[in-house]
Amino acid sequence: MEKIIVFGHKNPDTDSICSSLVMANLQTKLRREEVIACRLGEINEETKYALEYFGVQAPKFIEKIEENQTVMLVDHNEFSQSVEGIEKAKIDTVVDHHRINNFQTAEPLFYYAQPVGCTATLLFELYKLNNLEVEPKIAGLMLSAIISDTLLLKSPTTTEKDKKSVEELAQIANVDKDVYGLELLKAGTNLDKYTEAELIKLDAKKVEKENIKYVIAQVNTVSIADVLKRKTRLEEEINNEIKKEGLNLFVFVITDIVNSNSEAIVLGDRTDAISKTYEIKDNIVVMPGVVSRKKQILPLVEKNI
Ligand code: MN
Ligand code: MN
Repeated sequence: MEKIIVFGHKNPDTDSICSSLVMANLQTKLRREEVIACRLGEINEETKYALEYFGVQAPKFIEKIEENQTVMLVDHNEFSQSVEGIEKAKIDTVVDHHRINNFQTAEPLFYYAQPVGCTATLLFELYKLNNLEVEPKIAGLMLSAIISDTLLLKSPTTTEKDKKSVEELAQIANVDKDVYGLELLKAGTNLDKYTEAELIKLDAKKVEKENIKYVIAQVNTVSIADVLKRKTRLEEEINNEIKKEGLNLFVFVITDIVNSNSEAIVLGDRTDAISKTYEIKDNIVVMPGVVSRKKQILPLVEKNI
């Protein structure tokens, strides 16, 4: 493929999918050459809702890339969360809101990062910086991404910039942010249609640091108890994954988006990364007020491991 491609992380969430589409739109305008949005995994139920609502087609699925392919990354930078072959790609641009880890390039690049709640907030800023108009559909995609990443502006990752962007984008997209937002998040809590093997990978992020390999996966629900009815099967699948991937730790976070709490199933030989801070009982940890993997769970694991 000769054209420039843009994609978010593996096990894509709404930000990774929507920001790829938005970034392709933005960069195509800026460069006057077509930039193609791609995805590294299946579209989840929440994202499907957003794409159908705004009448936008999903990005093209890719599994790996050729050597020297020019790429743009959104919503991630860690190679362990990126496409197969990323080490030999030419990374042209990154727009992201995560910590920078295990990232290096051979050549200079455009890297735009800020500690905001969502990649789309930064993309919206880039439209403004470049005096580009935002079409309603594109605004709808950015709005969906921010609502998803910030749990309708309730996550501790939310910044003033995210809040302002949501107001403006809702206006351009011509939707009520609260009504649409709740419908979008609710669409993502429809977990019944997934098998346990699918659930643990739905929104899983793998981290490799020194000799430690771990996964933090997260699902959203309106009832943690409902998800925990499947605990035995979930544990089986998590243990399979630990064996298969040689993981030291797997944290499966179940987040109640109504009450902003989480519980997690914790397995592996390094569960001390959690148990140093929280009590684990029957492989379950209760984390009141915790909803953000990036800002609350990941730093805790990193500190304890
Ligand atoms: Mn993401
Ligand atoms: Mn994001």
